[in-house]
Amino acid sequence: MTMRRTLFALAGGAVLLSAVGVALAQREYKSGWVWPEPPVVTPAPVDKPGAPPSDATVLFDGTAESLAKNFKNGDKWVVADGVATVKATDIESKDSFGDVQIHVEFATPEKVDPKQTGQGRGNSGVYIMGRYEVQILDSYENKTYFDGQCASLYKQQPPMVNVCRKPGEWQTYDIAFEAPRFAEDGKVLKPAVCTVVHNGVFVQNHFELKGGTYYDQPAKYVKHAEKAPFRLQNHGNPMKFRNIWVRELKPIVGTPPAEKKDGDKKDGE
Ligand code: MG
Repeated sequence: MTMRRTLFALAGGAVLLSAVGVALAQREYKSGWVWPEPPVVTPAPVDKPGAPPSDATVLFDGTAESLAKNFKNGDKWVVADGVATVKATDIESKDSFGDVQIHVEFATPEKVDPKQTGQGRGNSGVYIMGRYEVQILDSYENKTYFDGQCASLYKQQPPMVNVCRKPGEWQTYDIAFEAPRFAEDGKVLKPAVCTVVHNGVFVQNHFELKGGTYYDQPAKYVKHAEKAPFRLQNHGNPMKFRNIWVRELKPIVGTPPAEKKDGDKKDGE
C-alpha cells in the first residue's frame, strides 16, 4: 500500500469511528419509570402574580364571608375593601393541612409608632400546623434579633436576606412546608421542612426545623397529627392581610422499572 492510500484508509476509519461515537452518544436514555400524567393547572394571569392558580383552595378572597367561613374567629377581624385587619385574636384555619403551599399577602402598619421597636413593630406570623412559625414583622429599618426578624423561622433560622418592603406596602409569602413524620412512640422519622419565598425571593431554602418554634423555650418536637390547622397571629398590631390560598403538595408517584434478571435481553430504548 502506498503511503497515500494508507493515509486515506486511516482518515476513512477515523470518520467511521467518530460517526459510530456520535450515534452511541445520541442514543436516548429512558428511565423506564411509569408516571401518571401531572394534572394540568392554570396559573395566575401573568399580570396578576399571587392570584390563586386553578387548583388552589382560596381561604380569603377579600370578603368577610370567606374569612368567617374558613377561619375560626375569622368573624372577629375587621374586613373592609377586600382587606382583613388583625383584631383581638389569632385566627385559625378550619381545615387541616400536612404538606402544603401557603400563599399570604400582608402589610405592616403604614403609620409607624416610634415607641414600637423590634418585635413590637408590625408583628404577626404564620403558625403552620399551629406550631411552626414563619415570622411576620416590620423589618424595614427595624432591627431585632436576626432569628426573629421577618421571614425567620422563629428562633431557629434567620432569612438569607432581608427583602422587606416599606411599612404599609403589600408583601407576599409563598411557603412550601413538608410536615414532620413521627413513629408511633413519638420519635421523629423525618423533620418538618420549610421553604419560604418572600416578595419573590427565596429566603428559606428547604430548612429542616428543629421542632416547634417557641418564645420561651428551645425548639422541640411533640408528636402531632399528620394534618393540622394553621394560625395567623394577633400580636396587638393592626396588620393587614389579603389573598390567602393553599394547595396540598402531592408528589407524583411512579412505578419503577422491573429489575432485570441475568439473561434478560437488554432494553434498546
Ligand atoms: Mg410573630
